[in-house]
Amino acid sequence: MSNSRKWDQINRIVIKIGTSTLTNPNGELNFEHIKNLLREISYWHNQGKEIILVSSGAVAVGAHRMNFSQVPKTMPEKQALAAIGQGELINLYEEMFAEYQKVIAQVLLTRGDFDHRLSYLNATNALLAILNLNVIPIINENDTISTVEIKFGDNDTLSAMVAAMLNADMLIILSDVDGLYDCDPRVNKNAQLFTEITNITSEMENSSLNRGSSFSSGGMFTKLKAARICMSYGAHMIIANNAVENIISRLLNGETLGTLFIPRYEKMQARKKWIAFGRLAQGTIVVDAGAEAALANNGKSLLPSGIIKVIGAFDRGALVAVENAQGYEIARGITNYSSHETGLIAGCHSSDIEKILHEKDYDEVIHRNNLWVEKS
Ligand code: GLU
Repeated sequence: MSNSRKWDQINRIVIKIGTSTLTNPNGELNFEHIKNLLREISYWHNQGKEIILVSSGAVAVGAHRMNFSQVPKTMPEKQALAAIGQGELINLYEEMFAEYQKVIAQVLLTRGDFDHRLSYLNATNALLAILNLNVIPIINENDTISTVEIKFGDNDTLSAMVAAMLNADMLIILSDVDGLYDCDPRVNKNAQLFTEITNITSEMENSSLNRGSSFSSGGMFTKLKAARICMSYGAHMIIANNAVENIISRLLNGETLGTLFIPRYEKMQARKKWIAFGRLAQGTIVVDAGAEAALANNGKSLLPSGIIKVIGAFDRGALVAVENAQGYEIARGITNYSSHETGLIAGCHSSDIEKILHEKDYDEVIHRNNLWVEKS
């Protein structure tokens, strides 16, 4: 895919605004700054771009409203603050966007909405209907009702999953950093900014751990996770510093700012996208190097012979992650056999399945039509 920053073909854009962009370090809303960003968003919306805003800030705004000097640690307290802050936040967006004659729609999502195919399709259709009405959706996680199991936990991941769900052309993550560096710029003055990335390496991921600000949940690690999702389904992603004046316009006008993540593939088929990012994996199948190569290079189905072990308990039809022997997730798919059955036939030839299980409905543990493979 082209890596020049000519964005004429980019029409549907998800913009993620983090807590550190919306608030001052003491948690107070930075009205002037928010206003500037909304003015820019309104301008691009007037140019015919479809814009979806993913906004954090509910917990921080709630904390400020209740005079907390920092965000409390317990889940119920955070959930209470999210409920308090989300109202104030959306009210602010409503008022500020009204100045530009823009209508907004609040959409609060949980991880569970992506997990079930039907609710995933419902949410997709509702968001598409909002866009058709020329309205700007403002999305946040429904923190108040999200339990650990159904939590994204950070809006970087949420914004990438929303981008994938809506088949957006680009995700812009506005943050308090210039982009991805080769090491932590707060610690090392000689840190180099990556301007373009076509491949996220494990070194990048390892060195990105623990880089975030006090009020936000994400950090560089979750931004890389988001980039991985975008690159896999076929969209561009940019991490850029919200403090740069007119940042959105400068990015959309093609200036080389921030870090651009470039997808190498055309957009993914909708069903595969849901397999890849929609559902949570219910277990893991670990495969050997031979199976890894067969899946990655030859687009083959996963056969029992390449399976080393099974982790977790799952039924037939479950969505499972496929990991290589080094513990790196290389694929996801819908399994034909339960965890128990897969464990019994692991390492065996497909012709032995009947002998072992006393029945054989499939030769493959995961058929390639039901498999999404991460391209390296
Ligand atoms: N949903 C959280 C909030 O609105 C933010 C999560 C994040 O910082 O990424 O406060």
